[in-house]
Amino acid sequence: MYQSFIGLEVHIHLLTKTKVFCGCRSAFGDEPNTNVCPVCMGYPGVLPSLNIESMRMGCMVARALGCRIPEKTWFERKQYFYPDMTKNYQISQFASPLGQEGYVEIEGKIGSKQIKKRIRIKECHLEEDAGKMIHTGTVSLLDYNRAGVSLLEIVTEPDMETGEEAELFIQQLRRTVRYLGVCDGNMEEGSLRADANVSINLPGKGLGRKVEIKNLNSSRFVKLGLNYEIARQGELLDAGKTVIQETRLWNENRDETQPMRQKENAQDYRYFPEPDLPVFTPDAAFLKSVDDAIVELPAPRAKRLAGDYGLSEEQADLICEEKAQADYFEDAVTEASANSLAVANTLAANKLSKKDMAARIANWLLQDIKHILGREGIELRDIGSFRLNPKRLASLTVLSASGKISGKNAKQVLEAVISEDKDPEAIIKERGWELISDPAKIAEAVQKVAAAEAATLAQARAALAEGNDKRRQTLSAFLVGKVLAATGGRADPKIAGSQIESLIQGN
Ligand SMILES: [Zn+2]
Repeated sequence: MYQSFIGLEVHIHLLTKTKVFCGCRSAFGDEPNTNVCPVCMGYPGVLPSLNIESMRMGCMVARALGCRIPEKTWFERKQYFYPDMTKNYQISQFASPLGQEGYVEIEGKIGSKQIKKRIRIKECHLEEDAGKMIHTGTVSLLDYNRAGVSLLEIVTEPDMETGEEAELFIQQLRRTVRYLGVCDGNMEEGSLRADANVSINLPGKGLGRKVEIKNLNSSRFVKLGLNYEIARQGELLDAGKTVIQETRLWNENRDETQPMRQKENAQDYRYFPEPDLPVFTPDAAFLKSVDDAIVELPAPRAKRLAGDYGLSEEQADLICEEKAQADYFEDAVTEASANSLAVANTLAANKLSKKDMAARIANWLLQDIKHILGREGIELRDIGSFRLNPKRLASLTVLSASGKISGKNAKQVLEAVISEDKDPEAIIKERGWELISDPAKIAEAVQKVAAAEAATLAQARAALAEGNDKRRQTLSAFLVGKVLAATGGRADPKIAGSQIESLIQGN
């Protein structure tokens, strides 16, 4: 068996309004060559100027990945020729990138195995993206809208060993940058792109010859591409051959990697400091603005949710999949807890704890609401503007938990809130679904049932005297059913049940 070493280079598009070195709009999907100017088109004699938001967002990611932000950070020119980059160099970072030497823990299930592993981050550096080439028939078209868009490259050390670990890393990173609000994480549109490098060797012999894989535009392809490459290199070594150091492309139609080009060394780019941009020295105010913008990250938040609200790890993880959903959940639980206090005062019988509320809300969220969002085509990140807002879900949860409406009606109310955009209380009132919880009103119905079903009541009392619990319960349930029927299904079944029970016991 060989040991494998996987490192990743992940590029993320930062969600800045404008590009990194000019004032052009930074957006995906606009008409080609409409968001351009002499700076991002690389005209001679123009001067770039740094977008501070790009630097701030880059530093937020660096901090979230445990990186050190150096006292001074600057830009270099990376020289190479390519038609989508008119200056013939890219402004990037080399000697002192904005984030250095961090690490993250990846944690999750691989198959049935729970893994937890530390992955070192070599660096995060800020650079400009290149334009886009569109090849059609015999012509190639160029769109420079993407040229100069803020790009952050995150480079890991070769600490992963399987395609599954790399997939987990990317999924976790994607969640993190989405939480921070610095990248939409859309791999299909290319706003998060990953290149992977992998080498294998006999255990204890260090790194082998490195192969880079490009064109991995989903986390699943990262896994498949790496596992394919580990197997391919193993077969070569088994046959006594050597692995060629090269760049390969993932072919998603054939599920294999194919050679693309022999890899040049980093030195070939002849980096030198960009003379048109000053050295950036992050001061205390800048660093504070970075720290202030960092939110609680998904992994620690899932742990906190599990602890604070008594959720299972799996539930907490699902809820934290999207920040908007985790916010929605916590808002609803807070509302419901406040709301339930008022209800609990009038209904001493139903003591509703925060954990009860949380469990009910988590169930709504992960089952019924998830289903409805899917049906209505609403993205999870837009759950905040959903008609069933946290306040409405909280009301519905308390009404249902405190027995004011039946479980069946609660689901109907949920649907009606969404289709009619009204509060649950209004819908329940309109439809006459509010359960009768006034003991005196229920007692009237119980008395009527006792008179009409005197024989059954006598049988129940006899069963009680004989100690035949099973028969007594059957008869009691029958009588409760009659009470519910007499009230059009609106009597609170708990109150009706206890009144019938008292009647049987002759109180
Ligand atoms: Zn521009």
